[in-house]
Amino acid sequence: MEFLKAFLLTALIFIPLERILTLRPEQKMLRRNWLNDLVFWVANSQIIGLSLASIVSLTVIGSGWLIGDSVHAAVASQPAWLQFIEALLLADLGFYLAHRAFHAFPWLWKFHAVHHSIEELDWLAAARVHPVDQIITKGVSFLPVFVLGFSDIVIGAFMTLYAWQSVLVHSNVKLKLGPLRWLLASPEFHHWHHSKDQQARDRNFAGQLPILDVVFGTLHMPAGERPTAYGLDKPMPQNYVLQLAYPFRDTANLDNPAESPSGAATPHAGAGAATNQVSA
Ligand SMILES: [Zn+2]
Ligand SMILES: [Zn+2]
Repeated sequence: MEFLKAFLLTALIFIPLERILTLRPEQKMLRRNWLNDLVFWVANSQIIGLSLASIVSLTVIGSGWLIGDSVHAAVASQPAWLQFIEALLLADLGFYLAHRAFHAFPWLWKFHAVHHSIEELDWLAAARVHPVDQIITKGVSFLPVFVLGFSDIVIGAFMTLYAWQSVLVHSNVKLKLGPLRWLLASPEFHHWHHSKDQQARDRNFAGQLPILDVVFGTLHMPAGERPTAYGLDKPMPQNYVLQLAYPFRDTANLDNPAESPSGAATPHAGAGAATNQVSA
């Protein structure tokens, strides 16, 4: 019942936080499709947890011959703070690349579109992810961290930060981070990624470190603005079973330029100044 404990703890923290630091006061606590996302929370914690644990265990065992004990020893002998920074950078680079691929390739986008179908963002919205999307993205992100031999305490700290930050960036919370908004992914950073405007949606791919989007020229955080609407151009059924089946059923999307990802791999001309506009 770990998922139930995690759910209750997260709810106890974020429900009051969303009342105190509200970003969108017009949004109700029990917003549309809240129960559907609760189903995602419960079901995904089982499916993804088991799948990832199996993949990670097999890869760590299988990679033993490839990455020798000397590499493991060298990595683990570094100070914990340095290991943490390395693990964070490495994992988020993997996340960035996998996430960008899910936007760039139409057959992958059909899985990721489930996450982007959310029309009202809050802490529970983080749960709405197709298992195929989550397993691939987390696999690419986490595997190097497990395989290279970072110490257990560093892996634990990284996983804790990852879990809380993924909830925070979706929450209906307004944070004033100042210059830290470049360093740590915030609701402001990730809410732009959920914008209905495709030019904003195909930006801000990092999970934790916006600096990666600065480096790759995909940052979009115009000062003093916020997205006018979230979601997709084309409605998606708001039902757990239908959303799981969506990538396998909806072939029409591959031919629909309005829905297909087009700007991810090549940021469109003229958007550069706007998309890289950041301010402290
Ligand atoms: Zn995305
Ligand atoms: Zn998201």
